[in-house]
Amino acid sequence: MEEVEREEFEVDVLIVGAGPAGLACAYKLKELIDQHEEKRASGESESDKDLSETMILMIEKASHVGAHSLSGAVMDPKGIAELIPDYKDKGAPLGMEVEDDTLYFLTQSSRFATPWLPSDMHNHGYNVISLNQFTAWLGELVEAKEIDILTAAGGRQMLYEDGRTIGVRTDDKGVDKEGNPKSNFEAGTDIKANVTVLAEGVRGSLTKAHINELELDKGKNPQSYVTGVKEIWEVPEGRFTKGTVIHTLGYPLDSRTFGGGFIYTLDPTTLLVGHVVGLNYRNPLTDPHNLFSKFKTHPYIKSLLEGGKMTRYGAKVIPEGGYWSMPKTYGDNFLIIGDSAGFLNSQRLKGIHLAIKSGIMAAETIFESLLADDFSETRLKGFDDRFRNSWAQKELYKVRNFHQGYDNGLFSGMFHTGLQMITGGKGTKEKYVIEEDHKHMKKIKEYFGKDEVDPMSQRIKHDGKLTWNKLDNVYYSGTKHEEDQPSHLVVKDLDICNNRCTEEYGNPCQHFCPAHVYEMEETEDGRKELKINASNCVHCKTCDIADPYGIITWVVPEGGGGPNYSDM
Ligand code: SF4
Repeated sequence: MEEVEREEFEVDVLIVGAGPAGLACAYKLKELIDQHEEKRASGESESDKDLSETMILMIEKASHVGAHSLSGAVMDPKGIAELIPDYKDKGAPLGMEVEDDTLYFLTQSSRFATPWLPSDMHNHGYNVISLNQFTAWLGELVEAKEIDILTAAGGRQMLYEDGRTIGVRTDDKGVDKEGNPKSNFEAGTDIKANVTVLAEGVRGSLTKAHINELELDKGKNPQSYVTGVKEIWEVPEGRFTKGTVIHTLGYPLDSRTFGGGFIYTLDPTTLLVGHVVGLNYRNPLTDPHNLFSKFKTHPYIKSLLEGGKMTRYGAKVIPEGGYWSMPKTYGDNFLIIGDSAGFLNSQRLKGIHLAIKSGIMAAETIFESLLADDFSETRLKGFDDRFRNSWAQKELYKVRNFHQGYDNGLFSGMFHTGLQMITGGKGTKEKYVIEEDHKHMKKIKEYFGKDEVDPMSQRIKHDGKLTWNKLDNVYYSGTKHEEDQPSHLVVKDLDICNNRCTEEYGNPCQHFCPAHVYEMEETEDGRKELKINASNCVHCKTCDIADPYGIITWVVPEGGGGPNYSDM
């Protein structure tokens, strides 16, 4: 499409992404500004800088706040209590308080409870939450502070000038499949800001491009991910009388593949059921959706779901690399926070409290920048300084080598975890170095010792009562996209997919995508070609990470498209 005229507007602070980190940043910043203005009015402020006209804008790709939010989740309240001490009185949507907390090791037909859990991994007293509801609630509080949240507005590209970050261009709307403007065409807007805060969540498309552009990951471990697949189940009354957290290791994963299952009680009849798989897997036919389905067929898990009804489905990747995988989070006119920066404790499987804390620290730093009228790297480094002196740093540093310890499988991982616990997180060395996830994938021949394997041999048969095929599951995610738009899954070289990848890896995209987006379709001359059903995409980002050639790029679709999660 030819270059079009775009509207431009300027704000002081632009926050990309209305998840817990971005919302916490907006909330705290407005609070600091309001307190400053009150003190200024009463003559108590140390600075006379007028911040009353400060413009903070949030943009969010989902149709409404929370629609793309998905997590386990058991929340450590440390973050929200620091942001909003009276969060309970303010009506935070909290599920059951955890009273029962067990980790099981599953074999194909049995289970063994681990006799002991490190205290850091206890969930007693925490609340199970729906991140989707929680984010929507926080969004309302932010809007009540008169901060605009522009929904259905995806960030298409970062804007730079003389090496500085100057803002974000939002997505064009009304463009057809071939890239031509339709009658409802609306050019994206260039939003310029003194500070752009990237809070897009995990594997944000702008963040990924920005990190590459400015080499913010130089000298760091690459980020490492797991894909989580989740359902919500309504189960008969009486099965759960108290808040329960169940984590599992073992079946259906082999000992070389990282991951496990979870079941949380949101309320006595609502179960959050999920399974995560490390994307540093070896077997090219690994299918997180199929593994989740197998997990549910385990006799114990099945018994918990018996007589129940699945009501919602979704999937998302989680950044598990931890401390050594965090990119440089600041620079001239920008900050990176939340999951986008890897604020997640993979040992505790918790990130919401850290995301909120990162938002608070970003807000405090930006507030100082506004007072000083200085948005340079030197000033915004204050974010990193705050982090280095915070409980968030202590928590993440303590488990700095946890995920990497599992690089060679479950049993060596357990050994490293044990060692790390008695050496303050160090283990065998200060920094365990890892490679990008997709580099672990083996070729078919290498993994199976033969040229071809029937992928169906690894799949289970779905009964439509306990397990469903991907397409049927996607229906329960509420996913919708405008059909006539360019694919938001950009494949650099289809020839690699249709030839080299078929032969070498057996087209793993068909397996790792939990939404049946990638399909090898037979052509008239008997070959197979990749078909991309982009409108099924639940925005989990697995393909952007797990593709062995690194040729799939996930970009934002037309704003508002994607899953419509509720209760997730
Ligand atoms: Fe996830 Fe990619 Fe499939 Fe979309 S296409 S659901 S981002 S794996």
